[in-house]
Amino acid sequence: MIEDKSFKSTNISELGEFGLIDHLTSQFVIKQPTTIKGVGDDAAVLDFKNQQVVLTTDLLIEGVHFDLSYMPLKHLGYKAAIVNISDVCAMNATPTQITVSIAISNRFPLEAIEELYAGIKIACEKYGVDLVGGDTTSSTKGMLISVTALGVLKAEDVVYRSGAKPNDLLVVSGDLGAAYLGLQVLEREKQVFLVNPQSQPDLTAYDYLIERHLKPEARKDIIEMLKELDVKPTAMIDISDGLSSEILHLCKQSNVGCKLYEDKIPLDQQVISTCEEFNINSTTVALSGGEDYELLFTVAQEDFDKIKGNPSMTIIGFMTEAKEGVNLITRANQQIEITAQGWNSFKE
Ligand code: ADP
Ligand code: MG
Repeated sequence: MIEDKSFKSTNISELGEFGLIDHLTSQFVIKQPTTIKGVGDDAAVLDFKNQQVVLTTDLLIEGVHFDLSYMPLKHLGYKAAIVNISDVCAMNATPTQITVSIAISNRFPLEAIEELYAGIKIACEKYGVDLVGGDTTSSTKGMLISVTALGVLKAEDVVYRSGAKPNDLLVVSGDLGAAYLGLQVLEREKQVFLVNPQSQPDLTAYDYLIERHLKPEARKDIIEMLKELDVKPTAMIDISDGLSSEILHLCKQSNVGCKLYEDKIPLDQQVISTCEEFNINSTTVALSGGEDYELLFTVAQEDFDKIKGNPSMTIIGFMTEAKEGVNLITRANQQIEITAQGWNSFKE
């Protein structure tokens, strides 16, 4: 899957900054009709005619957001693009362009940065977005990568976090908790490796989990599917920090409460079996795990028939009056208040 280029190591200074930028970006093809000028001038030029534009940015820092000892650079590039494309989708918009800014220390040879850009290019191709600019600078130690993404939509299609109403259905795409468990598996293998570098881990029982951590996807397909079904969510958010944290965002910004049903939370079989093995509660993992990049949204009751039984989305609860609070209804039919246990950058 990942080509081994370790035998070749070219010092970036051989190319110089402009040579490097040219080398990295010349392989990218512009496809969006809205891109008038991409990389190569002082700024990109875009023409969105009468559409609305959404804009979002994320900063990833080595040692805080990623660990290069088990995150291949190609995957990192892919993921850095995906997390932003996911935010564009969460506005109900179609992603169109990204910019990528990197800070790299001299510990990275050209081949490493090529891998990073190979991953970014795969994401651009898969999601049909153009790379239209960025910035390149040096860092004293680690790597920083910042991606900005743009998307377009008609003004009437924008979906905010704030539009949910009491009785709306709460819906989630895909399944939850796998990305977090994938990270736990990789962390465990890293510790094993540190003790015994000869160990050859067999990770086939966790392949879905690891894939979900290393190679997440943005649910652009769900945005398209909802359009085809003629369903406009009343509120939407992508799940980067964990279900509980995102539900609380929706409820707070929409001024509603919620009943979430534990037995409805979609879990992959590998999540269930790995939770048993690690002796952790699968509901906790789904609520607090994070980085699944699924879409969490609310739809009006009258849209129930359009989405019921759809294998790509699960109705996990419904919204209530704010005074009823934000609650989990357990399998034992107990009501527990949901608190923010989602990942928080400032925790610890
Ligand atoms: P400036 O000095 O005006 O910031 P740069 O030399 O940094 O210009 O960038 C030249 C062009 O290359 C611009 O179009 C910029 O957006 C693009 N660019 C710079 N770094 C990157 C990068 N890491 N990835 C993609 N495009 C980049
Ligand atoms: Mg610059």
